[in-house]
Amino acid sequence: MNFYISDLHLFHKNVTRAGKDFDDRPFEDLEDMHSVIKEKWNAKVTNGDTVYILGDMAMRGTQEELIAFVSTLKGHKIIIRGNHDDIRDLRYKQLFDEICDYKEINDTLNGENVRLVLCHYPILMWKNQHYGSILLYGHVHNSIEEYYFKKCLREMNNEEFFDRRSGTKILRAYNVGCMMPYMDYEPRTLSEIVENYEEFTTKVVRERKNYKGENIPLNEWEIKIQEDFPFMEQDPSDKGNIYRKYGFEFAGGWYDILRECLEAIVARYAEDGIGLAEIDFVPCQLKEKFGTLRFYYGYTDEHCVNAALDFLNAGLTMRFKPNDEDEGDDVKTKRRKDIRTIVSTAEQKSKCTCEMCGAEGKLRNNSDIGIYRVKTLCDSCHEKRIKIMQQEKLSKI
Ligand SMILES: [Zn+2]
Repeated sequence: MNFYISDLHLFHKNVTRAGKDFDDRPFEDLEDMHSVIKEKWNAKVTNGDTVYILGDMAMRGTQEELIAFVSTLKGHKIIIRGNHDDIRDLRYKQLFDEICDYKEINDTLNGENVRLVLCHYPILMWKNQHYGSILLYGHVHNSIEEYYFKKCLREMNNEEFFDRRSGTKILRAYNVGCMMPYMDYEPRTLSEIVENYEEFTTKVVRERKNYKGENIPLNEWEIKIQEDFPFMEQDPSDKGNIYRKYGFEFAGGWYDILRECLEAIVARYAEDGIGLAEIDFVPCQLKEKFGTLRFYYGYTDEHCVNAALDFLNAGLTMRFKPNDEDEGDDVKTKRRKDIRTIVSTAEQKSKCTCEMCGAEGKLRNNSDIGIYRVKTLCDSCHEKRIKIMQQEKLSKI
């Protein structure tokens, strides 16, 4: 049987709590990490199996301790080298059946033969990608780079051009880094990777219940936001968070504004070296109020602050900011101030963007013609709205 894993980073103190723990691994120190990895590996792999290690087995290949440790791991080991693998020491070298930088093999998935491309680095265009070939890779860990790679793949999967050229094969690539939640520090078969991945990746909500209790499918943009920004996942069973439970309370004309805002937030975290999985930003409520966008949020360690005073005439909103935002000037405080600016910029933009279609719009206040609810609309959506209101009035006479 074939197993896959990558980026174990053996003997690398900074992937444990004794060091920087940059992967957020659950190990106190190297001893702890090594014993868990060895136990999981040898409980599963036999000497008749083959384990493909997709790079960065360890930080160095010349330590006697490392050589001794790797020799206790069962199975035939084939290493597809990563940037940290130094395999010059003969004693280390002979522990591997094969050492290479890139490999193409066959494996089976649900009883079907599948072509696999194995490489330490994620490749955007890999061999036969449109014909069902699966890429396994490592290197990027659970980082912002993983997020951007997956984002590119999703966009390519949504691109009709690729479908027409090659049938309907969806692009499939899996990061087999041991720290990925679906890998959990053990070598896994292709079937395990594919099945676990589905289970662990974003659980996107695709429909909501209306007031009659019927399921209404969500708009495509509402699904896309959840897919592209895991911290924007919805969850109808969450009773404590209005956004998670009810989703977006405005129309799709503001999609671009929202998307730009979320991308800026992700980029701001990335500036501080924080990957997508560690983002502590929590959306609390996203709605239209007095014709403009309101984006209330909090942080995992800071309860949502959704209290705001609106001055309708001036179009101003006074927001009560999280308590500790002005205290100190550390990295977190600075970042949270910047995020506040990013969010309020998005809210400002909604004041001149049609909520229905995204075209240039303005706040419409038409109580003179019987429209009391203000909305930001473009000329044509505004006219449409007036027509509908008049028809409704006529039908009541
Ligand atoms: Zn419009």
